[in-house]
Amino acid sequence: MLRSIRESFLGSCALLDSAFAQVKVVGRLWSCILACSLAAGCAAPVTQRVAVDDRARAAEEQAQQALALQSEFAMTLRLWSVGYGVLKAAKADCTEMLRPSLGIYTLSSEQLPVAARSRALQSVGVDASQRIFAVYRSGAAEAAGVKPGDVILSSSAGVKPAKESRGDALQRMPAGVPVKLTLQRGGETVVVDVVPDMVCDYPLQYRASGDINAFADGSIIYVTRGMMRFASDDRELALVIAHELAHNTMGHRGKKSANATVGLLFDVLGAAAGVNTRGAFSDVGARAFSQDFEREADHVGMYYLAQAGYPTEGAAQFWRRMATEHPASIRTNLSATHPATAERFIALERIATDIRDKQGRGEPLTPVKAKP
Ligand SMILES: [Zn+2]
Repeated sequence: MLRSIRESFLGSCALLDSAFAQVKVVGRLWSCILACSLAAGCAAPVTQRVAVDDRARAAEEQAQQALALQSEFAMTLRLWSVGYGVLKAAKADCTEMLRPSLGIYTLSSEQLPVAARSRALQSVGVDASQRIFAVYRSGAAEAAGVKPGDVILSSSAGVKPAKESRGDALQRMPAGVPVKLTLQRGGETVVVDVVPDMVCDYPLQYRASGDINAFADGSIIYVTRGMMRFASDDRELALVIAHELAHNTMGHRGKKSANATVGLLFDVLGAAAGVNTRGAFSDVGARAFSQDFEREADHVGMYYLAQAGYPTEGAAQFWRRMATEHPASIRTNLSATHPATAERFIALERIATDIRDKQGRGEPLTPVKAKP
């Protein structure tokens, strides 16, 4: 009896399905009936909903967007203000990737899409003038007396930032040639000569993601909001940037690609011999020396940190803190290929000791090269 009821039910459903498949409009109606039935059958809140009018909601949406823009702008300025010293300190390792820079972050509304201009003005004060929003610590502009809030009226290198400059170099800025800047500061006009720094040309890019992560793709260094919040002070953020910069200066991305290509060759040879390796050799190639590259980035990065003027003692605490407070992010973001955090902690402590000894002896701050 039960069986016959079930069969008759299934038969009815099959008939309905075929009918609805043929008539899409009726199919949508069926979905609607199902949704209504579900809503009627589900439990609902018992208190009265607060009425929100459309105008108030739109105003709040705008306010939240403005706050998001302010936060993003502040994070970008902090990233550059901290990272600039590291990009400058590592210049000896960036011979092929160097560029002149004034050590400022300047932005005008003309550099933004028209649709974004009014929001940028309201949120962070970006107007049509070429305003300097940040003067990087230990940078060329700071040494010349440039202040945040100054507006560039004219300059021997043009007024607008160079397209490739990320806001810290002007249009005509050959290396080693002083740039004369005429600045408006409040009601005054100030003229300064700035001799540009040479810095590693690996731009820093902020990512508005809550993941605690940073990575380098061979040309750009990315740092997430989650990582910037986790890095409790400038030294910790500089450590992260220095580690990622070392990945770029040591050419790790290119070396990984080359290793993957070698693996791919074995996959192709396997396929020619009738064996489907399912890309196993490419995977192995891509992962070859990954942990050694990470150790090298830790090692070289610590020297960049010291060269940028930050103390290296206690830097290893950063990774210990991450391993204990956010083990999941270590596993998922940073460390499928990273050394165990215990090994990393001890190695970083030893590197800090080596650096301190070298500083004490007045020796150059360069990492020890591996024996051939
Ligand atoms: Zn790394």
